[in-house]
Amino acid sequence: MGLKTDYISEKQLEPNPGVLYIVGTPIGNLEDFSPRAKNLLSKVSIIACEDTRHSGQLFKKFEIKATLISFHKHNIHARIPKLLKKLAEGETLALVSDAGLPSVSDPGEELVAASRKVGHKVVCIPGPCAAMTALVSSGLPSQRFCFEGFLPSKPKHRKVLLNSISNETRTTIIYEAPHKLLKLLKELSLLCGEDRSIQVARELTKKYEEQIGPTIGEAMKYFSKNKPKGEFTLVLGGAPKGKITHISDEQLIDEMQKLISSGVSTNHAAKKLGSKTGYSRNYLYSLMH
Ligand code: SAM
Repeated sequence: MGLKTDYISEKQLEPNPGVLYIVGTPIGNLEDFSPRAKNLLSKVSIIACEDTRHSGQLFKKFEIKATLISFHKHNIHARIPKLLKKLAEGETLALVSDAGLPSVSDPGEELVAASRKVGHKVVCIPGPCAAMTALVSSGLPSQRFCFEGFLPSKPKHRKVLLNSISNETRTTIIYEAPHKLLKLLKELSLLCGEDRSIQVARELTKKYEEQIGPTIGEAMKYFSKNKPKGEFTLVLGGAPKGKITHISDEQLIDEMQKLISSGVSTNHAAKKLGSKTGYSRNYLYSLMH
């Protein structure tokens, strides 16, 4: 396939008034700021930013002088009508987040939906994304995958989601904060077993970038010795096909109790039910305590 050159005329025309531009920015390495993104941001009149001070530092480096308007999770609904008005008045408007692609665990989707609803064109100037960067460098299957972003912290919602993630046969991508990383690895270990494949991507595109794996057990060992610092994206291998079925905790406890009352120890029951259902022995054991 030859290189298409029709983009040149498009680029020269950018930015167009009344179009919402979604612009990817670096997730660490400033060299990843694309020429097209820099060019567009230096020409638009308004940039909606998740944090104006944070993006302001990046823009200062690249002499981007547009008016900055804050657009973060706490003011989305108040800001959307204001930004739509600017688009309707024919202003040139771009949206960025603190890092990576807006709308990926960052504000953006509501503004895009609202803009489309009233007929504005939306154009994405693609850029780095931690999820995709971690996935393609993990070595885990990437033809079909799921993205979960940050998991909920409320215990009930978290448990349901973790259960479903542990049964998912596709590769799953998860974002996590450093101080919660070990807890998440322990939760995954209980549900998926220590041998499940994982790559924990740390500080992607930055000086201390590293990948820790290849199993949950190994990652737990590593981070028990090395305090997690920086930014993390987890890429979890899928559950073995055909083995794990969705069973509620109540059903699992029921099955465990049946086995125990037939005379086997809790440990043995956990082992037996584990090999039947695919749930880890530790998880089944923990349900009984
Ligand atoms: N919109 C961003 C994107 O496209 O990647 C993601 C924003 S989300 C609020 C921030 C989370 O992404 C971080 O807490 C971390 O889990 C992940 N992340 C961002 N930069 C990263 C990096 N350089 N290395 C590893 N993970 C990163």
